[in-house]
Amino acid sequence: MVKNHQFTIGWICPLPLDREAVRLVLDEEYPQDEVQYQNAFYLGGRIGKHQVVIGVQRKIGLSQAAILAEKMRASFPNIGYFLLVGIASGVPRYGPAGAVSEIVLGDVVVSSPRGYHGRVLQYDKGAWEGQGLLRAAVNNFRADGSFKTNITEVLKQMRLKLDKERQHQYDDPGPSRDRLFKDTYEHRGTELDECRACCDADCVDLRSDRGGGATRLVDKPSIHFGNIASSNQMQISAVERNRVQKEHNVICFEMEAAGVMDEYPCVIVRGICDYADSHKNKGWQNYAAATAAAYAKGLLAMIPAIDATSIEEQSSTQHAATITNMTFGNNRDGIQTQNFHGNVQFGFERR
Ligand SMILES: [Zn+2]
Repeated sequence: MVKNHQFTIGWICPLPLDREAVRLVLDEEYPQDEVQYQNAFYLGGRIGKHQVVIGVQRKIGLSQAAILAEKMRASFPNIGYFLLVGIASGVPRYGPAGAVSEIVLGDVVVSSPRGYHGRVLQYDKGAWEGQGLLRAAVNNFRADGSFKTNITEVLKQMRLKLDKERQHQYDDPGPSRDRLFKDTYEHRGTELDECRACCDADCVDLRSDRGGGATRLVDKPSIHFGNIASSNQMQISAVERNRVQKEHNVICFEMEAAGVMDEYPCVIVRGICDYADSHKNKGWQNYAAATAAAYAKGLLAMIPAIDATSIEEQSSTQHAATITNMTFGNNRDGIQTQNFHGNVQFGFERR
């Protein structure tokens, strides 16, 4: 039985479907009734050399993420830092003219410095303030090398754990279901419609219409590093999305990170399941949750094990300081490092 003080990584899942994906990347899952504190139960397991405790938010939103992180930190005192892993909305493209990167559904966005020294920005408070500079844990992930791991292989291993009925739950939906609508074309159907029947196909850009930068082989998402916009409001307008992107240099929209970033060393990993417009649907959610979890697993493999006993009496600042010289990506301007076609580049050296 793993004791509460032995967990060193806190993994926050905003949604139950994010939790289903992380279960599949655990190398070992502990009996659920053994991972608890004051009758609050968590998912616990081992990923490589790390003891990981996983919490799911009761509701979506910034404050819920903050509450969960606080509870987890109180219950598992040696959590050195958090990973917040789940699905989110992405901008379709970013970067300066001539060096534009395309984000397609299923790609992964990782919070890292991009213009603002790595802020997660909370933008629904009327003013953009740097809500939670990424702390030492993330800043220390600055690139000074590169390392590749294979997200494709992790996805394959995840599927092997599924029973027959769920076998295709985490399949790559493929390019034909990746529809990027023109900015001004609003969704015509209900929330559940996947646009195929309700929305005008002439108003869609498929990946093939978006140039080579939008091409992906099956199970080979690209990884993007950049600022994340965090808000309590769901982003459902392409026009508003473009405005916020332009004004604040963000590549991803979500509803949790700012709540956690304020208080704890935290890395945000988001699988992109829609384009933050009115055509949101659930078609990509499982796969995006899987690519995010697969990336995060690779990330943990790069991080030295945290010694739970030695950090027992240190402050949280010092926890962060024990994670040194690690970086996301190898491009300090925060532009997508490149299309890796499945080989995720972490940008720091294995110890
Ligand atoms: Zn639509």
